[in-house]
Order: sequence, then structure tokens, then C-alpha cells
Amino acid sequence: MDLKMAVVDLMPGPLVRTFASPYIAGKGMEAGIRKADQIFRDAGLRSTVDLLGEAVHRREDVEATVQLYFRMIEALKGKHHASISLKPTQLGIHESEGTCAENIRKIVARAAPQGTQVTIDMEDRHFTDLTLRIFKALRADFDNVGIVLQSRLFRCREDILALPKLPCKVRICIGIYNEPPEVALTDKGAMKEKMFEFVQLLLDLGHYPEIATHDEALIRRCMGYLEARGCPNDAFEYQMLLGVPRTALQQEIVAKGQVMRLYVPFAEEWKYAIHYLKRRLAHNPMMAAYVLGNLFRT
Ligand SMILES: Cc1cc2nc3c(=O)[nH]c(=O)nc-3n(C[C@H](O)[C@H](O)[C@H](O)COP(=O)(O)OP(=O)(O)OC[C@H]3O[C@@H](n4cnc5c(N)ncnc54)[C@H](O)[C@@H]3O)c2cc1C
Repeated sequence: MDLKMAVVDLMPGPLVRTFASPYIAGKGMEAGIRKADQIFRDAGLRSTVDLLGEAVHRREDVEATVQLYFRMIEALKGKHHASISLKPTQLGIHESEGTCAENIRKIVARAAPQGTQVTIDMEDRHFTDLTLRIFKALRADFDNVGIVLQSRLFRCREDILALPKLPCKVRICIGIYNEPPEVALTDKGAMKEKMFEFVQLLLDLGHYPEIATHDEALIRRCMGYLEARGCPNDAFEYQMLLGVPRTALQQEIVAKGQVMRLYVPFAEEWKYAIHYLKRRLAHNPMMAAYVLGNLFRT
């Protein structure tokens, strides 16, 4: 555990929870869907709704997670502004890759007839290979499944080149997990440079990049590139996390007729929300200052 994470880990749950409101839709699936509807109605923002929680070990908890995703899919019928995101560690990976693959397949198959997109989030480097294997097997059978790649990993370019030849929806981000220098870049500037390079590579290969960053300079660089390339608005999208203050930029993207999607997490239990927030706080201690600033402004 690095120093920042260790410090954040010492923060009491209720204090972390104070920081929750802008970043988390609330408790329960209905809160996630309500938030997705609200940001679409009010600001034209799409969402990808995500159940918080990792490292689900018990078989009955994994089954409950599958059932919750089924209910979420049912509730998203006809709501084309919202997709869903999920994680292999919630869905049986601790039992076996086969169990996890089967569970994700059930969810993707359930979502397919109504056209709900499912993105398989990318977790730390120990899960990269198996997540890609699961995605590739599913992509052969379904159009409504996408994947995430992390530009900080040295392997990222090879992973892009090895994607299925069918068009793939790929969320490209720098990656949230601190990976060791043997396998990953450690300099943020270099990660962003790679991210820009990989947006281009994904387009060259006929894929659909989902540009997931809050870095305004990087977004503007991508905007300039996409415009110069003559990329149609349905060939890419931008993604950000709910709660990160980027309203003007998001509105600018929506006004251009481009897709701006927010990651909208909800929690079934607060302990999962707290884990997510602690990771975000460790990644970006300024988050605490933003939230406190907002509290005092209202
Ligand atoms: C939609 C979406 C899905 C993602 N899915 C994954 C995934 O599956 N796997 C994975 O490893 N990573 C995922 N990430 C996280 C991503 O990899 C980065 O860690 C995260 O986006 C921060 O990197 P950045 O490019 O925004 O750059 P940064 O340099 O970290 O941020 C740029 C600026 O944005 C602001 N900012 C960023 N984060 C916050 C925050 N939390 N609060 C307030 N301000 C902030 C700060 O002003 C900062 O200076 C996802 C990110 C998004 C937006």
C-alpha cells in the first residue's frame, strides 16, 4: 500500500462518507438509475451505471450480484442514455475464470435484446489477461459488450493490436491502479501521451474509443485531432466520473452533438462506497478540497 492510500485508510468511514454525495448516486440500484435519468434530462449526459463492490467471494453474494444486474437491465429497458459497467471480481473470479465468464455472459446476453451496452471494467494487472479473454469470447457472440484498457501498462499497445477484428468499444484511460515500474509507466504525463496515441490507434483499427479522462488539455488535444481527422460524432465518445467538476467542458461536448458519458456508481452497502471513495481520494487528494469547498459554498 502506498503512503497516500495508507493515510486515506486511516480516515474514519463517516468522514469519507461526507465526501460521497457528489461522487456516488446513492444507496441502491434505484438511486443509480434515478441519477442516470436526471443527468440525461437536465444536461444531455449519458451514463454507465455501476454497482460498487469488489472482491466478492461468497457464492451466494456473487449470485445476488448477477440477480441485481438482471434487475438493473430490466429497469434500463428503453433507456438508451444508460449503459452498465461491471467487474470480474464481483462476478465469480475468486471461484474460477469459467464461473466468472459464465456470469458475465448471462448478463451480456440478458442485456443484448434491448441494446443495453455492458462494459467490463479493468482491474489491476493480475486480472488483465483473464478480463481480455472473457471479453474476446463474448465479443465473438455479442455486439453489446465493451472493454477497458489502461495506457499506463506497457502491454497496452499489444493488447489493442490483439483485439478482435470486429469493431470494439474500448474505454481508454490511464488506469487507477498503481502498478510497479516493471510493467507500467509511473509518470502521468507519459501515460497521457500514450493515451492520446492509443486513441489514434484504436480509430486506425476501426474501434470506438471511449476517451475517459478529466484532463482538459488532453481532451482538447483529442478534440483537435478528431476534428482534423474528420471523425464523425458516432465514432467515439468522452467519459468522466460523476462528481468531478467539469460542467462547462461537458456541456461543450454535448453542444457539439458528441456523446459525453458519466460513470454513475451506486452502492448496495456503504462499506463498498467507502472503499471506492478511499481509492479516489488516494488518487486525487484534491477531491477533499473540492467537496469541502462545495459544502461551504452552498
Ligand atoms: C468513466 C471512467 C471509467 C473508468 N474506468 C476505469 C477502469 O475500468 N479501470 C481503471 O483502472 N481506471 C478507470 N478509470 C480511472 C482512470 O483510469 C483514471 O484513473 C482517472 O480518470 C483519473 O485520470 P485522469 O485521466 O482524469 O487524469 P488526472 O491527471 O488524474 O486528472 C486530471 C484532473 O482531473 C481532476 N480530477 C481527476 N479525478 C478527480 C476526482 N476524483 N475528483 C476531483 N477531481 C478529479 C483533477 O483536477 C486532475 O488534475 C475510469 C475513469 C473514468 C472517467
